[in-house]
Amino acid sequence: FKIPEILNEPMKGYAPGSAERKGLQDALAQMEQDLPFEVPCIVNGKEVRTGKLAKQPMPWDHANHLCTYHEADPQTVTSAIEGALAAKADWESLPWNDRAAIFLKAADLVSGKYRYKLMAATILGQGKNTWQAEIDAAAELADFLRFGVKYVEELYSIQPGKNAPGNWNRLEYRPLEGFVFAVSPFNFTAIGGNLPGAPALVGNTVVWKPSPAATYSNYIIYKIFEEAGLPAGVLQFIPGPPAEVVGQVIAHPDFAALHFTGSTFIFKKLWKDIAANLDNYKGYPRIVGETGGKNFHLIHPSAEIKNAVLQTVRGAFEYQGQKCSALSRLYVAASTWNNGFKDLLLTEVAKLKVGPPQDWTNFIGPVIGRPAYDKIISYIEKAKAAGGEILVGGSGDDSKGYYVQPTVILSKDPKSVTMVEEIFGPVLTVFVYDDNNYEQTLELIDTTTAYALTGAIFASDRKALIHASNKLRNSAGNVYYNEKCTGAVVGQQPFGGARASGTNDKAGSMAIFYRFVSARSIKENF
Ligand code: GLU
Repeated sequence: FKIPEILNEPMKGYAPGSAERKGLQDALAQMEQDLPFEVPCIVNGKEVRTGKLAKQPMPWDHANHLCTYHEADPQTVTSAIEGALAAKADWESLPWNDRAAIFLKAADLVSGKYRYKLMAATILGQGKNTWQAEIDAAAELADFLRFGVKYVEELYSIQPGKNAPGNWNRLEYRPLEGFVFAVSPFNFTAIGGNLPGAPALVGNTVVWKPSPAATYSNYIIYKIFEEAGLPAGVLQFIPGPPAEVVGQVIAHPDFAALHFTGSTFIFKKLWKDIAANLDNYKGYPRIVGETGGKNFHLIHPSAEIKNAVLQTVRGAFEYQGQKCSALSRLYVAASTWNNGFKDLLLTEVAKLKVGPPQDWTNFIGPVIGRPAYDKIISYIEKAKAAGGEILVGGSGDDSKGYYVQPTVILSKDPKSVTMVEEIFGPVLTVFVYDDNNYEQTLELIDTTTAYALTGAIFASDRKALIHASNKLRNSAGNVYYNEKCTGAVVGQQPFGGARASGTNDKAGSMAIFYRFVSARSIKENF
């Protein structure tokens, strides 16, 4: 059989009066009326109510919460692991076309029947505005599911190709032995689908701990997989207290892989925990992680100013800067800065409206929660204390939700704290470089932080672009020319970074699937 042609999910515009705007408005109204929801753990396809309750708040409204969920307790975690191991034989031996069909159907449910519900959960629970939710919970999620099928199809077709007379050599792409553990983040609903989904597609069974701040949208994804026909037990959904759940899962001898997106700090800790357990495992666990970033835009004197400014504003402030890929350090030539860049940047940032995410006029919504808010505000204070000049923004309001004004800091010191450390909020630090110090600036960009996730180079001079790109070849896993450093599209820009930013296994490409298979080489003599 041949899989259908795979295309990126078309993005909807949500213009006033459009059917999609009405669809989303209705879904939001319904969700706001029905909340809070109750979310159980799901083990072997059965709902488990542990009674250990926790809440997923809504970052724009302290007075209400989106859902109450049952936290997995040790017994639930044990049952989830045992269930995943038991479900594996049937799942991996299901013909590939049936596994593919389940994922393609799930993608259609995401792009059709559940589009607005997923988006509403992402808007209300994770604080995305409509367009950010559309990119994520509708388009990217459907793309991960559909392109995954295409990539696995291609992977399976990679064969040794050379046979001597009388024999046939082949590669069999087995899933890993044991179970996979997926730990997904709050900031992309789509990643909530991809972290458990990618390993499952190649025949693994997965114990999945969603982010507490994305529990409800991730639960909807689970239900979509179920409706698409995913057999019970393939995904074990266990929201719960991170340290306990993660510790217990990683200690299990059948732990075969970690698929993680989250902070560098936690990823390093998990890696060390896994290392400490190494003698207890059956095999060497695969460790796949996408972590932090401190992403840059470099503005060369030849850059087209208006484009560079508009891309900078979007890169830094869309979704309140809470993308791993978000722009947070800007290097701009003094000649460019003084000849219009600064003025246009400040004008554009001042236009960004801040407020509840379901209000269509707001560009900036709340940051995800109390710790995030406090951390961001404290970084702004640290920048001020270190002599940073706040050009715009610089304050927050946490009376109703966790709102931080989009903030631009001018730093004379290229290694000041907000040039170096990840903030994960709407804070952009600018270093204006002397045009004569361009080479040193390239060096600075490469050496200032521990991260290497994304970056962008703005120049209309092609030679300058190539030169900078070469000098910065290890500074980012995703580099963009004359476009912002966020917004990788599945199937178009495989995503991931190196250094402290992750294992660079490139989500949204075939590469990621290699990590979750363990090939068997078969030689047969006839
Ligand atoms: N893939 C997303 C982008 O390119 C970022 C993913 C993340 O934040 O983890 O913007």
